[in-house]
Amino acid sequence: MQKFRWMMILWILIITGCSRMPQAGAISTEAVQAMPQVQTTAPAEENPPATEAAESPEAEQSKDPEQDIDLSLKPNEAGKIMVLMYHNIGNEEKEWVRTPQNFLKDLTALYEKGYRPISLTDYVTGQISTEQGKTPVVITFDDGNLNNFEYLADGTIRRDSAVGILLDFHASHPDFPLEATFFLDGSRPFRQKDVIGQKLDFLIEQGMDVGNHTKTHENLKNLTGAGIQEQIGAQAQFLEGLIRKEGYRVNTLALPFGARPKEQNMQTFLFSGRYKDIPYENIAVLNVGWLPGYSPYDSRFDWRSIPRVRASEMNVGQFGIYSYLDYFEKNPQERFISDGVADIMTVPEDRKALIHLNSERELYVYPTAPETD
Ligand SMILES: [Zn+2]
Repeated sequence: MQKFRWMMILWILIITGCSRMPQAGAISTEAVQAMPQVQTTAPAEENPPATEAAESPEAEQSKDPEQDIDLSLKPNEAGKIMVLMYHNIGNEEKEWVRTPQNFLKDLTALYEKGYRPISLTDYVTGQISTEQGKTPVVITFDDGNLNNFEYLADGTIRRDSAVGILLDFHASHPDFPLEATFFLDGSRPFRQKDVIGQKLDFLIEQGMDVGNHTKTHENLKNLTGAGIQEQIGAQAQFLEGLIRKEGYRVNTLALPFGARPKEQNMQTFLFSGRYKDIPYENIAVLNVGWLPGYSPYDSRFDWRSIPRVRASEMNVGQFGIYSYLDYFEKNPQERFISDGVADIMTVPEDRKALIHLNSERELYVYPTAPETD
């Protein structure tokens, strides 16, 4: 039965995969290996070792910033972070289309449940200064369709496009940062050819980001090393050539169909390579996925293979955004809760072992609170 269920899920994923139909088998092997993770409703964490109450970490307090960290908010920077995957905003809800009303519903639910957007770059570099007590979330859109970002004849942005909705929501909720990454493929991102550069500049000026989704939305599984480098390198050069901001790098990649080359030595071109003698280097490679991501401080975090959560409610059962919002409500110990300070990693004692120690950030451990309820 269990096996049958996974086969069904795998089948659903194979026949879907992206807004453009992937070939069967487009799911990467590591993504498949990662699948059972979603089933672990954290049995091991049901009874964290109860130590003394969380009020007295004086012994740890040597620096000022720690005094600003409010332990009653139960910061847990070893918890998971969702990278949400959207494609289209449109009038008919489908697996790869969210209606404007439903996208607004998602943003409202995230806001009310204490999630706050951060940039993908801040996620992978661990620069997390999300308001303390809140949970970072990364918003992504693939394929650069017109419904993501449209200028109307009067020069205004279409209000029910993805960008219009994000702008309005941020205006009415200023503590919900305007952060999202748009992964663009092809030579006419957002489909209005006279204002391509203007749109890219606008996104970046507003603090949002432009990512790479390859030159022709090719399944990278089928390409040679030279082909992969052209798909990634040419698109990065094309987009960077349109962006006015000095030094802005298009260095995050969302894999079309979530597919990656089978051979390990070919995968290296997803991370760095050259096209027409110009090098590229990515700092994040995103899968089509159905799992929340590890904390960037977790030793299992891998920027080369970042899972995403589908921001949809149809046909994906437990893998959509709302199933994870529920999951984190029931398993709060699994959720990343910010301490509000970017260069300190604050974790309860029972999560300490998950953290990858490094010289850049201080680790601040406090006693795990006993279960109350
Ligand atoms: Zn795509």
